[in-house]
Amino acid sequence: MLLLLYNLASMNTMMDYPLTLAPVLERAGMLFPNGQIISRLPDRSFHRYTYREFRERARRLAESLTAAGLQCGERVATLMWNHYAHFEAYFGVPIAGGILHPLNLRLHPNEVSYIANHAQDRFLIVDDVLLPVLEKFKAQTNFERIFVVRHCSDRVPEGFEDYEEWISKATGDFQYPDLRETDGASMCFTSGTTGNPKGVVYSHRSIILHSLAGTMADSMGVSQRDTILVGSSMFHANAWGLPYTAALVGAKLVFPGPNLDAESLLNLMEDEHVTVAGAVPTIWLPITEMLASQKGRWKREHTLRIMCGGTAPPEALIRTLDEHKLHIIHAWGMTETSPAATMSVLRPHMDDWPEEQRYAMRARQGWPLPFVDLRIMTPHGEAPHDGQTPGELEVRGPWVAGSYFNAPETRDRWTKDGWFRTGDVASMEPDGCIKLVDRSKDLIKSGGEWISSVDLENALMSHPAVREAGVIAMPHPKWQERPLAVVVLRDGQQASAEELRTFLGQKFAKWQLPDDFAFVKELPHTSIGKLSKVELRKQFANWDWQTPQHR
Ligand code: ADP
Repeated sequence: MLLLLYNLASMNTMMDYPLTLAPVLERAGMLFPNGQIISRLPDRSFHRYTYREFRERARRLAESLTAAGLQCGERVATLMWNHYAHFEAYFGVPIAGGILHPLNLRLHPNEVSYIANHAQDRFLIVDDVLLPVLEKFKAQTNFERIFVVRHCSDRVPEGFEDYEEWISKATGDFQYPDLRETDGASMCFTSGTTGNPKGVVYSHRSIILHSLAGTMADSMGVSQRDTILVGSSMFHANAWGLPYTAALVGAKLVFPGPNLDAESLLNLMEDEHVTVAGAVPTIWLPITEMLASQKGRWKREHTLRIMCGGTAPPEALIRTLDEHKLHIIHAWGMTETSPAATMSVLRPHMDDWPEEQRYAMRARQGWPLPFVDLRIMTPHGEAPHDGQTPGELEVRGPWVAGSYFNAPETRDRWTKDGWFRTGDVASMEPDGCIKLVDRSKDLIKSGGEWISSVDLENALMSHPAVREAGVIAMPHPKWQERPLAVVVLRDGQQASAEELRTFLGQKFAKWQLPDDFAFVKELPHTSIGKLSKVELRKQFANWDWQTPQHR
């Protein structure tokens, strides 16, 4: 009777079938039993198995967790590189009703222990090679049991349990619990550039919908014919969803482990015939340098699609990679947006556009994926879609966080009418394409005008002598803030401050040009390889301006 009432009320005759990871795992094992999953391990050896074996082991993990008493919604942490066992946790934990919580192994020990405690992680699965990292924060945490994945050791130390032994005790007859699509499946924390790190809990449903979006021809277009290199960390926003998208369609998966240097990645991409890769621009920069110095090394008939985001890939990087059939698809997103929210895939009418214009479009953050709504808000209301008016980018959608985990004090990140305030400043074209101006906290506020540090950095990185550049705001008595450019030159290349200023002058108004240039050997990066403006500002807090107007 109740059911009948429900159907009448909702006026549809469709089944109420929950979108969960369980059918994704089962389908992957059944339809793609021979699909390959390849991992480069910490000792540089290879581990290879199939989706059939993967399904079997993910189920064993789920059964073992259930036997260990894991309750629905409880968190299981991982401290692992990108490889098969981590992938098993990506499914094994959520199908047991738990929430997978990959810990960022590059954070300060105090920060990791804060995150693990805040999430109330009950169990931990850790790589043996990362035990020294764990040792630095373990005393501050309360993991009930710790399971070690052995790569380079013969046995596990006292007080730990062996992952292989543990899951081998499972009967292999895992009974799926009743999972609801709104149940939590995994969680990630944003880096705490301001305040404490904040947790986002992805639901089964949000992961499934985000994965489906990744298979669309007008996004990454991932299919069963693809071989995907997961180059983004598995602790950063679900490795950008790529492992889940791959399992959904049965694509071959390639995990690089900790071997993220240009040589290792190029070898892996060559040997395994990778067709799709995801990684931040910092990973691609040394690859372009290697390709330039070893002419003829990378011969491709087909284009490799790169999902690239986390920070804006400079136009120069997009162009250089194109010369090697490495095609960047620029994506914008956040931990809070699962992460993919927009992609810059050119539209058919742009096919005939001049090359310059096409590259300029590809360097933008692009158009929202279906169901992702965007708006640009100014103090006076929504900004016109004129490609000019900047304002804070707000977002909503089925894979956008509606709150942070156990952090009621952060409620004001959401508007009363249900949009998430991103903290990014952007403008929107009439056709809905967005261009990110800056993070609001990185914008340079000079005499009532805004200067985009991102635009200056990208322009600087198109100078042939510049390897990397960071532009930060420095306090100024008259103008409030003025830009300082910190530049890393390419090996063996020269460029003076004057030359760079003249170069920028071709594109920017005089008042937008950096007042000074500092030349350094390297720039600081965050745990996931983004330029760390916080660290850069600290390093240059006492900068002695060279320009007369600062004297
Ligand atoms: P964190 O805050 O630790 O850097 P996130 O990965 O969640 O972690 O960061 C999201 C932010 O990264 C966005 O708000 C935006 O500022 C920046 N970002 C992501 N993708 C791009 C992109 N394609 N272009 C410019 N900035 C980007």
